[in-house]
Amino acid sequence: MESRLTKTDGIVLASNRFGEGHKIVRILTASFGKIEASAFGVRKTKSKFGSTLEPFSHVRLQLYRKGEGTLYTIRDADAIHHNDGIRDDLYKFMAASAVIEPVVRFVETGSDEHGLYRLLSGCLGILNAIPVKKAIYLLSMYEFKFLTEMGYRQQTETCDSCGATVRPEQAYADTGDGFPLCSGCMRTNSMRVEPSVLRFVKWAQDSPLDDARRIVMSPGTLSNLRQLIRFLYRHHFHEDLKSWKHLSETGSI
Ligand SMILES: [Zn+2]
Repeated sequence: MESRLTKTDGIVLASNRFGEGHKIVRILTASFGKIEASAFGVRKTKSKFGSTLEPFSHVRLQLYRKGEGTLYTIRDADAIHHNDGIRDDLYKFMAASAVIEPVVRFVETGSDEHGLYRLLSGCLGILNAIPVKKAIYLLSMYEFKFLTEMGYRQQTETCDSCGATVRPEQAYADTGDGFPLCSGCMRTNSMRVEPSVLRFVKWAQDSPLDDARRIVMSPGTLSNLRQLIRFLYRHHFHEDLKSWKHLSETGSI
């Protein structure tokens, strides 16, 4: 008979108390995609799970499941990495919240996304260690890689609307018509995309996330880049990311 006990690694996305000593934990796992799992005994002072099942933790799990379509139960959880560097810094904490938000909101439960798990665990590991002033660049690179994992890799050469070659000094993005747009297809509400931002998009999709450490950008270019990312998420998912608001309130973007 097939064992109902199974092991996998995962990243904790969210953790909610539910009744007495009971937690419902959302996790992006290496083997089963995004799951919800139930954990018992978490309110005891010496809980066997300790702080392991908190958001951003990288964990090794032993899961039990009665059958298809039923909730997983966490039998055991060991930390691979607590990513405490994220919890110790408010800005990194907010950046990490922005990293997991699209996974929480736009990824279907149960879809088996190996690439997404590698992307998320890699990104949080780097965020944990990177100088805080580079966190915004890491987040920006990550957002293009997340779009790629979701099937929305961005090309930067030809107009998304008419197919003409886009001149870098006359490139636009539109929440309705997409990106990039040529000067003939831009609309009144379209934004202009700086040539350096176009180059960044192309570069970010093919470079390792750790290269965020090397990025230097003027505040104006960063602002143009962040506006483009906002436009792209609106275009593809028809919604804004909420964690952006907190990040922009800190004055960093
Ligand atoms: Zn066009």
